[in-house]
Amino acid sequence: MGLKSYKQKRSFKQTPEPTGKKKPHLEGGKEEAHLFVIQKHDASHLHYDFRLEVEGVLKSWAIPKGPSMNPAEKHLAIMVEDHPLEYRDFEGTIPEGSYGAGTVMVWDQGIYYSLDDQYQLGTEKTIKEGLRKGKIHFALAGKKLKGIFSLVKIKGGDENKSHWLWIKKEDDFASTQDVLKKDKSVLTQRTMNQIAMDKSLSKK
Ligand code: MN
Repeated sequence: MGLKSYKQKRSFKQTPEPTGKKKPHLEGGKEEAHLFVIQKHDASHLHYDFRLEVEGVLKSWAIPKGPSMNPAEKHLAIMVEDHPLEYRDFEGTIPEGSYGAGTVMVWDQGIYYSLDDQYQLGTEKTIKEGLRKGKIHFALAGKKLKGIFSLVKIKGGDENKSHWLWIKKEDDFASTQDVLKKDKSVLTQRTMNQIAMDKSLSKK
C-alpha cells in the first residue's frame, strides 16, 4: 500500500492529475464511513475506475465493463495502483503521451461503509483484512450506486494487477436497468465530450 507506483507512472509536469503530495484531511471522523469514487476514463480502452478510501489512499480497480446494479452480472475488476485521496475530485483530460491519456469524469462519488461476511457494519480493519483475504463487502451511498456490493478476488492477473469480480448483492437497490446510462459527471453535470472540449478546466 502506498503511492510509490502511482508517482512512478506519471510525469506531473505533463499531467494535470494530483501529485499525491497533499494529505487532505477529510470530513467525517466516523471510523466506519469512508469515501468512494468512480471515474469514467476514456483511455486507450474505455473503463470505469472504482476507488475506495482505505488508510489515507484510494484502493483502485479498473472495471472494463463498468459497475452493475444487477446481481446476475459479475464484472471483471482489475486492481491497479493506489491513488492519492485528492484524486477523488479529479476530472479533466490527461494529455496524449502521458500515462492513462484520455478524459476522466467523476461518474459517481459518495460514502461507503465496510461490511463483514455477515454484512454487518465493519471498520477500516474489516476492509483491510478483506483485501488481504481477497473478499470485501461494502455498502455504497453514492448518487448513482447504492446498496451492498462485493469485490471477490479470482485467479488471473499478477501481483500488481490482480483480478476481482464486481458483484451486486440482492437488496432493495438491485436492478436490471443499465446504470451506465446515467452518463453525466456528478461533480459538474458535464458529459465526457464537454469535459474533453474544456481545455481550461483540465488543469486543476
Ligand atoms: Mn483508469
